[in-house]
Amino acid sequence: MLNETLHGDVAVLTMNKPPVNGLGHGLRSALWAAIERLEAEPTVRAIVITGSDKAFSGGADITEFGTPAALAEPHLPLLTQRIEACRKPVVAAVGKLALGGGLELALACHYRVIADDAQLGLPEVNIGLLPGAGGTQRLPRAIGLGAALQMISSGQPQRAAKLAALPGQALVDACVPAAELMDRALALAASATATPRLSERSVAAEPGLLDQARAQAAALPFPAPLACVEAVAASTDRPFADGLKAERAGFETLMQGDAAKALRHAFFAERAAAKVPGLDAGTPRRSIQRVAVIGAGTMGSGIATACLLAGFRVDLIEPNADQLKRGHALLVKHLLSQVEKGRLKPEQAQAMTAALQQHGDDAVLAEADLVIEAVFEDMALKQSVFRRLDAVCKPGAILASNTSTLDVDAIAAVTQRPADVLGLHFFSPAAVMKLLEVVRGKATAASVLATALDFGRKIGKTCVVAGVCDGFIGNRMLEPYLQQALFLLDEGCTPQQVDRAIERWGFAMGPFRMGDLAGNDVSWRVRQQRVKDGKVVRAQPLADKLCEAGRFGQKTGAGWYEYEAGSREALPSPLVDALIVNHRAALGLTPRSVGDEEIVDRLLLALGLEGRALLAEGIALRGSDIDLVYLSGYGFPRWRGGPMFELERRGEAAVKARCAEFAAHPRDAQDFWRRGS
Ligand code: NAD
Repeated sequence: MLNETLHGDVAVLTMNKPPVNGLGHGLRSALWAAIERLEAEPTVRAIVITGSDKAFSGGADITEFGTPAALAEPHLPLLTQRIEACRKPVVAAVGKLALGGGLELALACHYRVIADDAQLGLPEVNIGLLPGAGGTQRLPRAIGLGAALQMISSGQPQRAAKLAALPGQALVDACVPAAELMDRALALAASATATPRLSERSVAAEPGLLDQARAQAAALPFPAPLACVEAVAASTDRPFADGLKAERAGFETLMQGDAAKALRHAFFAERAAAKVPGLDAGTPRRSIQRVAVIGAGTMGSGIATACLLAGFRVDLIEPNADQLKRGHALLVKHLLSQVEKGRLKPEQAQAMTAALQQHGDDAVLAEADLVIEAVFEDMALKQSVFRRLDAVCKPGAILASNTSTLDVDAIAAVTQRPADVLGLHFFSPAAVMKLLEVVRGKATAASVLATALDFGRKIGKTCVVAGVCDGFIGNRMLEPYLQQALFLLDEGCTPQQVDRAIERWGFAMGPFRMGDLAGNDVSWRVRQQRVKDGKVVRAQPLADKLCEAGRFGQKTGAGWYEYEAGSREALPSPLVDALIVNHRAALGLTPRSVGDEEIVDRLLLALGLEGRALLAEGIALRGSDIDLVYLSGYGFPRWRGGPMFELERRGEAAVKARCAEFAAHPRDAQDFWRRGS
């Protein structure tokens, strides 16, 4: 965990706790003991602390949070103070990465030799916390108030070379090529005579800067950013020791709060989703070099873009020449926008465009390692495409459908190789949205699932495994949620009232604005298809009337709201208000006043109860997977943790009681609420 070597009279402590030298109790104790011993060792004049090829240190071990190990001494704040107090020079040799507690450890050393390409950051705000081991006090003393405020309240890591260029900075004593890191650190340690401590420096107070940062942070709905600003402010107006106390108090308050718990949950949900029962590192993977995408519509062109951005060679197949042209133009536009934003170099975009081949026929399919079908949402059409794939694709090719509602098993069943078939449900716009539901069919082989998950991660997606059902995880839960939103209109709300209530709670977008963005006609057509298929469908007369009036949403300039030409601003619609009033009258309903709390509870509990059903049916592997789907694909606020986390936060008794209230309501989906009561 901690190796010790001697180079002349300089001792080198090398942290060696894969993967990123997380500062758990074991490593902290080892560092503490080594500093104590080496300080007393007469043959040692200085100490270098360094990490591995992968990281100096990725920071605190967050798996310890909330456990006794996190509090077990020496905890990180104590360790950093001990290192800074060491009477012999301590040099941090920082390569690759020093994040959170890792950077705080480096800040406690007397000198820092840092590889110029290393990333340094204090990202605690992303998990609802503030840096709690002196970071809020030492970083401003090292790089000045403005730069420290920016780094701490944004959580964004910075390159060492950029920080080293800040005027008057005391963070980077030497910014060196990575290959020279150890030599330069050893040379510095061998010649150092003093033990300069950041805690002994002072920070120039700049009230204007602090006020501005406070105002920005106070506008956010969760407390960590403002607590970060207040902790940094404490570095300007009081002695270091008192600043540390203020930092600790702020840290502990945040740690107990709901937002930090939710953000930690989200962090762990991402890790958990990668673990799929039956798959492990030993599961055989298939090689994917060449991807074929069938259909150059909205989704096909977006999926092709995502694959190109990750360096895959892509064949885009579309029989309709105009559509192929449109899809290609969409794809090029996206790549160019990435160049404009500085995320791609022009030559990279050019190489990606060159890695794409467009085809009016499907002869090229025989060469694909992975085929992603994105044709119209029509079972007969999809089955005919898969019959064709079965006939022409090479053995071992993975055959994926981007269907959003259809039965992946029924699609697989028309092939002689159902084990090679699965769903890859992308979200629109596919090159941008993080979520990818990886739909495991009854017959999908473990190697196919494992390869698809690796592929999803390679193209930068957050992958969640789902079983086969109508709507998989995300869209199936959306149904009762949207149903409640419609009931709320029946009962007296306006679309803007419903949207405003859930947006104030933290959603990126309420259900009606979302419908207008995605196209109200999509679910309208799905309802019609289901009726045709003889399925049980709950009538949605109001939503039907909206679509019958051609109000599909933004694309038609009108939906639940009105849109002025070229604008996405949702304006209230007197016409929709009249539609709702007439609809209520037809139902014989007297509108009542519905409070925001009821709106939010009905929408959230609708999601949560359907999520529970998905767990019971085994469609979702775990509650945190469901949360991840909503956090990464549906605009659920990350600092609220997700619908299942919210259910748990409320507690079973409260959920039951609320569902019982809703179940007693005469105009509501009573069977649905009885499930939860
Ligand atoms: P779209 O209408 O924009 O594109 C479909 C394309 O498929 C058209 O260009 C059409 O010409 C082409 N096509 C039809 N038959 C074909 C064939 N035999 N071979 C090759 N190309 C053929 O539709 P879309 O919105 O891109 O949806 C495609 C699929 O993705 C559907 O299954 C849909 O449910 C799913 N999906 C859509 C979204 C969304 O938000 N639009 C989100 C997730 C999943």
